Amino acid sequence: MDQKKTIVIGSGPAGLTAAIYLARANLNPTVFAGSSFGGQLMLTTEVDNFPGFLDGIMGPVLMDNLLKQAKKFGANIIFKDVLRTDFSQKPYRVYTDDQEYSAEGIIIATGASARKLGLPNEAQLTGRGISYCATCDGPFFKSKQIAVIGGGDSAMEESLFLTKFASKVYLIHRRDTFKASAIMQQKVQANPSIEPIYNSEVTMLQGKDKLTGITIRDVTNGQERDLNLDGLFIAIGHNPNTGIFQNQLAMDEHGYIVVTNHTKTNVDGVFSAGDVDDFRYQQAITAAGEGCKAALDLGKYLEGITI
Ligand code: NDP
Repeated sequence: MDQKKTIVIGSGPAGLTAAIYLARANLNPTVFAGSSFGGQLMLTTEVDNFPGFLDGIMGPVLMDNLLKQAKKFGANIIFKDVLRTDFSQKPYRVYTDDQEYSAEGIIIATGASARKLGLPNEAQLTGRGISYCATCDGPFFKSKQIAVIGGGDSAMEESLFLTKFASKVYLIHRRDTFKASAIMQQKVQANPSIEPIYNSEVTMLQGKDKLTGITIRDVTNGQERDLNLDGLFIAIGHNPNTGIFQNQLAMDEHGYIVVTNHTKTNVDGVFSAGDVDDFRYQQAITAAGEGCKAALDLGKYLEGITI
């Protein structure tokens, strides 16, 4: 068994910020960066809303910078997935495919994954017209024609936000009623820039290097039609990446880790940061802030200070 001082699971903004703070506090973090290093920002192009970058920064470049910064202060990065954890006794155990590690203090920052439509060229067009984050990418669609997919609160919120930029927002849902809260639905109905399209699912994404449109199918009669679009925002929910913590940590009914007092999980010495416990904000900067808090909280915990 390889004993470490502290372990961070995840390498998005939360995990790498935690690593920077732990490393600078001489808490020698080992970061399990996973096979999909960098998290959701690796799927975006330009990030305009991360403070401090006047001209924006490409998502993958931001993550590479955070990685270099963590390494500069001595963080040990392991590019492997954690397959299993055991938090039943101290030191806590973390398992990769070929090794067992342990530590007294752990930060979980495994993030969440946006649900995908599952259409053939969805990945190829992501960042080229397709987005999973209106706050991040909305301003790139000034005076453009776009669509939002989904019927929950996220889809309503994103549609309303996107009317600040786009000239027209189609809100496409597969059922005849939205599942979003009444107040959000009322706001959507009252907004003349949003045109709801019910009972419809996307069957094709058009465009090679850039999205040019979509094909939608009316589920009541099977008829298909094309919509010319500059942008498509997919807001069909997120799945927190918490599978490996089942039966180890308290989670809510959607699988998000339950935290108290900002970053504490129900297991002493195991802290959580970023989208893995936060469905509300889901921003790179809030995740980074949470990573900082978790590292400070873990430092206090290891010093025996109750928070
Ligand atoms: P939800 O799970 O609530 O809604 C997802 C929506 O996407 C559903 O309408 C679902 O359809 C649809 N959907 C799922 N999969 C597909 C698919 N493959 N193709 C087409 N449509 C699909 O997720 P949200 O992200 O909207 O919300 C998550 C949580 O966050 C909720 O509890 C919500 O209340 C909360 N939230 C609150 C906000 C606020 O209070 N301001 C803002 C944003 C989120 P169907 O209806 O058929 O299942």
